Amino acid sequence: MIKFTLIENSLDSIKSGMDYLDFAEEKNCPVSYKKALLSLFQGAELILKEILVQIDPIIIFDKNSLFRNCASPLQPKIEKLYDCKSIDINGICQELKKYYPEQFKRSNLKVIQDLAKERNKIQHFAFEMTLESLKASLVKLYLMVIKPAMLLAGEKAASDTFVEGINRICFEEHAADVEEAFLNVDKRHEFVKGGCCHCGNHSLFIIYDGESYPVSCYCTTCDFEKQEIDISEFHECPECGANSVLYDEKLGGGMCLWHKCSDCVESVPTTMKPCAGCGGYLIEDKCINCTKEED
Ligand SMILES: [Zn+2]
Ligand SMILES: [Zn+2]
Ligand SMILES: [Zn+2]
Repeated sequence: MIKFTLIENSLDSIKSGMDYLDFAEEKNCPVSYKKALLSLFQGAELILKEILVQIDPIIIFDKNSLFRNCASPLQPKIEKLYDCKSIDINGICQELKKYYPEQFKRSNLKVIQDLAKERNKIQHFAFEMTLESLKASLVKLYLMVIKPAMLLAGEKAASDTFVEGINRICFEEHAADVEEAFLNVDKRHEFVKGGCCHCGNHSLFIIYDGESYPVSCYCTTCDFEKQEIDISEFHECPECGANSVLYDEKLGGGMCLWHKCSDCVESVPTTMKPCAGCGGYLIEDKCINCTKEED
């Protein structure tokens, strides 16, 4: 019950926060920047609570309030928990330090604490921050806090067939939607989405960053990612003819990154392996250097 509410609400808030930010930028609208901050911060708070609840639901409740309201505070009844006060953002940071020291280091926690201050200022009507620096802080909040938390929440969702109504597929679709909303803000027109050959999901984000070819790509469902791709790593795709196939060792084949190619849309790997003759590649059993065309 608690889990369902937390995951659903957090992903909704994060997604709508990103949409506000997108709108705010496009229309240069200060009110939408505020809404973006409020929604994203709320979403972050909820997803962080979710990963703490995954360890033990009582972590997110104020200890005094637990002992006051529950007959057995260490194994409280769900209905009793509704009467308890939950911990605030500082409390959340303390618990993250304790339970997830690897994922939430001091620099990650500082992002939360700095934005908590801004959020409080908004609530007291004295909000002063340049829009540029607000955007930068929100992007940081997403990358350094929300994303690692979503990853942890997703791992758990993957190990449970059903986490109270939310199953793995559903979680991953939400996560991909949130990432897309984020990229709309951060890399407007500089990315496309395709199918991932490793996991088969349509959650491969292909980033151009102003270049004419993809410079990186990553999947939000599995851990596949490739950074700093050099143009020389691309080979001709036998399906679409574009110079867009990347060899992937783990896959033992190629992956076309041209988002309009049907192989890319449908997550079909290219038959590809290293060519012993020249150090290049055999693509569908042909190497451009070594295989002579027979006619
Ligand atoms: Zn994948
Ligand atoms: Zn292709
Ligand atoms: Zn060869």
